[in-house]
Amino acid sequence: MTTIQVLLPLAIADAYSYDLPTHLHVEVGDFVKVPLGKQTRIGVVWPQDKAQKLPDKTKLKQVIAKIDMRPLSKGLVKFINWTCDYYISPKGMGLRLVMNVPEAIGQVGQIAAVKIGNTKLERSTKARENILEIARSGKAFRKSELAKLAGVSLGVIDGLLKVGALMPTSLPKFKAFIRPKVDHNLADLAEDQSTSAQAICQAVKAAKFDCFLLDGVTGSGKTEVYFAAIAAAIEQDKQAVILLPEIALTVDFLQRFKGRFGVEPAAWHSGLAKGARERVWRAVASGDAKIVIGARSALYLPYENLGLIVVDEEHDGAYKQDSGVMYHARDMAVVRANIDNLPLVLASATPSLETYLNAQSGKYQHLVLKKRHGGAKMPQVRAIDMRANPPEPQKFLSEPLIKAMKLKLAAGEQSLLFLNRRGYAPLTLCRACGHRIACPQCDAWLVEHRFNNRLMCHHCGISITKPNQCNECEAEDKLVACGPGVERIFEEVSLLFPEAKIELLSSDMHMNVDELQNRLNGIAAGECDIIIGTQMIAKGHHFPHLTLVGVVDADLGLENGDPRAGERTYQLLNQVAGRAGREQKQGQVLLQTYNPESPVMRAMIAQDREAFYKVEAHNRALANLPPFGRLASLVVSSKEQKKAFDFAREMITAAIKVDGMVILGPAPAPMGYVRGRHRVRILARGPKGFKMQDWLKTGMLSINPTGDLKVQTDTDPYSFF
Ligand code: ADP
Ligand code: ZN
Repeated sequence: MTTIQVLLPLAIADAYSYDLPTHLHVEVGDFVKVPLGKQTRIGVVWPQDKAQKLPDKTKLKQVIAKIDMRPLSKGLVKFINWTCDYYISPKGMGLRLVMNVPEAIGQVGQIAAVKIGNTKLERSTKARENILEIARSGKAFRKSELAKLAGVSLGVIDGLLKVGALMPTSLPKFKAFIRPKVDHNLADLAEDQSTSAQAICQAVKAAKFDCFLLDGVTGSGKTEVYFAAIAAAIEQDKQAVILLPEIALTVDFLQRFKGRFGVEPAAWHSGLAKGARERVWRAVASGDAKIVIGARSALYLPYENLGLIVVDEEHDGAYKQDSGVMYHARDMAVVRANIDNLPLVLASATPSLETYLNAQSGKYQHLVLKKRHGGAKMPQVRAIDMRANPPEPQKFLSEPLIKAMKLKLAAGEQSLLFLNRRGYAPLTLCRACGHRIACPQCDAWLVEHRFNNRLMCHHCGISITKPNQCNECEAEDKLVACGPGVERIFEEVSLLFPEAKIELLSSDMHMNVDELQNRLNGIAAGECDIIIGTQMIAKGHHFPHLTLVGVVDADLGLENGDPRAGERTYQLLNQVAGRAGREQKQGQVLLQTYNPESPVMRAMIAQDREAFYKVEAHNRALANLPPFGRLASLVVSSKEQKKAFDFAREMITAAIKVDGMVILGPAPAPMGYVRGRHRVRILARGPKGFKMQDWLKTGMLSINPTGDLKVQTDTDPYSFF
């Protein structure tokens, strides 16, 4: 018997050893059934880690069976190991990123169907003839499908089955994906588009690692460029994946893809139903689905023959996973492309500073699209100084913005008001005693949602009915809403423009994908005058009638202590500004700000991206912040604050002293109390090339938390709350 390693998709650090019975033959990547305690589990044969201590051979349990299906590729196995090493995560959790559709493991199921039988009918009816005529094609049909095609009831089919004119058979459980048609609707590429497309297509054909930054202003036609590269991948009979930061974008994108390639691609995101997930997972693994459009997790699908990765809006923070294995899909896309030796396209109008500098230094190929496609002008951006133009009490729109909206309404053009805040008001205050209503289990104010008349915590999700009495001083009817959320802006706009058609879009409106698509189509068709929305409306969409964008609070997001706050705000503002004037008429963007002199606002007004990057890079280099230095964050949490602090101090004592490594903390995290747990944060900052992971593992992470203590480690953190 030989000993093999099997990794299970559970929160376990490493693969376990098992005995392999002599009649079984397996390779790394094969799926196997093994005992675990009293249960049986499905895992994957894993390469042996040199550092791993092997258990006593005589005590090993045996592999039960090998599952008859295509193994995970060596590249994917390596990629999972790489991800888990980098993010200091249990390998089993890495495997779980891939094995997240349990139904897809094993042979695919069949469903009942019927086909033409051998018995000839002596007497027939019109209804029966209708059915037989279709069935004579020899194909198998689901009963319901056949009944519908023939326009008869299911009973007629059962009758024909009984007499043998039809017979039972089976069909594969899932419909196949149709191969996208490369020439379905070719775009006539402009010169810079064509140059960029050629460079990427060449890399696709050469099947070698290469990283491209596709850098072009909003509306410059980046999508058309990478569609050309997708076509090249399909021609090579390879698969390609396009990552998008938001589901809301996927919806639009599927239609656009269909317009270009004649068929819808496979979609992958958290909104998929169970059956659809299984269908996509299997089709990706078999190579049947050529193109996948998906959220970050699509990077961990088991592609049979991947030939290209595209990360659209590569700068978007949504690519960072915020629990479990805290991977950044853009960074890991580079790793996967490298391991599998294939080209990668990062597309953005406002690349992350990391990517931008990599392009500047020549590490990535920098492909630039300078102008909007078809001669559309870039929007004109202006700041409204709110100190000089204060809104009315309890109102949030300034006179200049209202005026501009009036003009647009009169001209029959659309306006968009952007505010990245869900709900009605971010804070509820008692006017009698000053008490603010906070979440009982988090350091957060409850946010009023007026549509359902509740106060909600945006961190843990609990909600309460809105009280009419202060729970501190018991005064009645003294509670007031403070500050705006999109619902409140909706109210203000409805009063200002009673004759206008207003559309409110926010991520907590719980629309399904079809409803959302309908609303977006309606907006694109010009069916409303004013759109009010959170960031789900800021990105990607193409609304031809939209010529004015108003940003209700442009300073929002600049206040927190996040080292990327400026960059992020700039990217988001630029993206939402990019919705304006995408066709003939020039767009206008108005930023309501209390700080028009800040570098972000100045860069926005001057539309001078390079100047902004220069300042941003300079400041971060001075502070040794990414990408000039490395960060890791450790959040220790416990129900008792003292326990969390004590353990955090113990960890710091265990840290290995290294020149250039700086440890900050322990300090209460900005969100010091979440879901009933106190959170204490340690931040480690090191020089650029330093292997932070080894240093952490042998130092601070070498002591184990006990009791209710938990340590969440994050390499390259993006969130600092
Ligand atoms: P980006 O992704 O850079 O924001 P898009 O690819 O969405 O830009 O292009 C903006 C608009 O211009 C879209 O409506 C798109 O269909 C159109 N467009 C871009 N390139 C072409 C082209 N070569 N031929 C025709 N239309 C194009
Ligand atoms: Zn809460």
